[in-house]
Amino acid sequence: MSAKRRKLGDMEPEEFRREGHRLVDWIADYMGSVELYPVLSRVKPGQIAAALPETAPERGEPFEKILADVDRVLMPGITHWNHPGFFAYFAITGSGPGVLADFLSSALNVQAMLWRTSPSATELEEVVLGWLRDLLGLPEAFEGVIYDTASISTVHALAAAREAVVPDVRTLGLAQRADVPRLRVYCSEHAHSSVDKAVILLGMGHEALRRIDCDDEFRMIPDALAAALVEDTANGWLPVAVVATVGTTSTTSVDPVRDIVEVARPYNVWVHVDAAYAGAAAMVPGFEATLDGADGADSLVVNPHKWLFTPFDLSVLYCRRMDAIRKAFALTPDYLETVEAAPVRNLMDTGVQLGRRFRSLKLWAVLRYFGAKGIRERLAEHIRLARLFAEWVDASDGFTRVAPVPFSVVCFRADADDPFNERLLDAVNAGGEVFLSHTRLQDRFTLRLAVGNLRTTEAHVARAWTILQETALQLPSPVEP
Ligand code: PLP
Repeated sequence: MSAKRRKLGDMEPEEFRREGHRLVDWIADYMGSVELYPVLSRVKPGQIAAALPETAPERGEPFEKILADVDRVLMPGITHWNHPGFFAYFAITGSGPGVLADFLSSALNVQAMLWRTSPSATELEEVVLGWLRDLLGLPEAFEGVIYDTASISTVHALAAAREAVVPDVRTLGLAQRADVPRLRVYCSEHAHSSVDKAVILLGMGHEALRRIDCDDEFRMIPDALAAALVEDTANGWLPVAVVATVGTTSTTSVDPVRDIVEVARPYNVWVHVDAAYAGAAAMVPGFEATLDGADGADSLVVNPHKWLFTPFDLSVLYCRRMDAIRKAFALTPDYLETVEAAPVRNLMDTGVQLGRRFRSLKLWAVLRYFGAKGIRERLAEHIRLARLFAEWVDASDGFTRVAPVPFSVVCFRADADDPFNERLLDAVNAGGEVFLSHTRLQDRFTLRLAVGNLRTTEAHVARAWTILQETALQLPSPVEP
C-alpha cells in the first residue's frame, strides 16, 4: 500500500486522475464493443453472490483491483441494456453525454434539498424542465419536478389528488374515518402496475383501483369510464383520480386523454397522464398529437430515462397544481428554515424525499449535446425501424401482429400455441444476439420487440427478424392455435 493511501481523507487527486482515466477508457471500450457480449446475462441465480467475499475487506484495496473484479465477477452478470440487440421491455439507453454528466453529478455530490444547498441544481432543474415542457408542447402552466422513477411520480400525483378530495388527510389520515367515503381511482386494464402500488401506498386499499375496459386497440373506453363514475358515485364511492396512459406498457396504446378529461371534469377528479415511455414522441414531427388533450390534465409523467437517452434514473412530473403537491408534502423543521424568501423553490417541498441528486445535469447535457433536432431524428428512426419490423411480420406466413404500432414497439406471435411461443422466445434470447420480452394480450402469450436503443440500426432489427424466423423453423412442430 502506498504512503498516500495510508493517510486519512479521500483518494488523492493524482490517483483519482489516473484511475479516472482508466475508468473512462474502460467505459469507452465497453461502449465500443458492447455488441460482443451476450445481451441477456447467462449466469445462474446466486452465481454472482457466490463469487464475492462474504465480508467487507478490513484493509483498503487499490481501485485497479476493484475494476478488475468488475470485469471478472460482475460483467458476466450484466444484461446489456446498451447492446443494439436489446429489444426487451422498453429498450432504453443512456448516452455518452448523459453518462459523463452523471459522473460529474456524482463528483459534485450536490444534495439539492434547499435552494441554498446548491442554487444551480434547483435553477437548472427549473430551466431544463421548461425546455422539455416546450419541446413536448405542454402549456406553461405545467410546473416540472424531477423524481427517480415514474412509479414515484405517480405516487406524488395521486397523493395530491387524495389531498384535493380529503383536505385534512394529512392531519387525520384515512383510518377509522366515518366522514370519508371509500376512495376510487380509475385507470385502464392496460395501465402500469405502478398505479396499483400508488393506491396501495396511499392507504386507499387496492380495491380503490377500478380498471376500465379497453377497445380492441387497447385504449380506455371513455363511455365505460363514464358508466363507472355514475355507478360508483351512486354507490357511495368518492372518485379521486383517473390515470390515462399514453403509451401503455404492453402495446403502447394511447388512451383518449381529451375525452377522458371531458368525462372526468364534472366529478372534479384529478386527471394524471402516464406518458412515461411515449411522451417523448410528442417532439417528433407528425406525432405532436401524442399528448393531445394532456393540456387539460392535472399532471403528467414522462421518463427521460426511458426514451430520451438519459441514463437511469430520471423521471419528470409536470403538474399544473404543484401547490397541491406542496400542500401534501411541505414540512420544514427548524433546522431547515432558510432566510431566502419566496419565490425561491426548495425542492424538498415537492415530494417525500429530502435529499435529491443533481439529476437535471444529465438531462441538460443530453438536450444540449444532441439538440432537439438530433433527438427528434433518433426517435423518428426508432419508430421507422419498429414499423419496418411490423411490415415484415405482416408480410410473413408464420407470424401475426397482434396490436397496432403507434410508436416503436411491435407485439406479435408465431402462429402456434402459447408453449411454442414461449419456447421460441427462450431459444431466441439464449442465442445472445438479441433479447426480446413478452406480454399477455387477449390471454395469449405475445412477443414484444421494442426499439429504443441509440446503437440499434436497421441491420440489427433485420437480424432479430432472421433469428426469430430461423429459430421458429428449428423448434419441434408448431401447433396451430
Ligand atoms: N408507466 C408506464 C407506462 C411504464 O411502462 C412503466 C415502466 O415500464 C412505468 C410507468 C414505471 O416506470 P418506472 O420504472 O420509471 O417506475
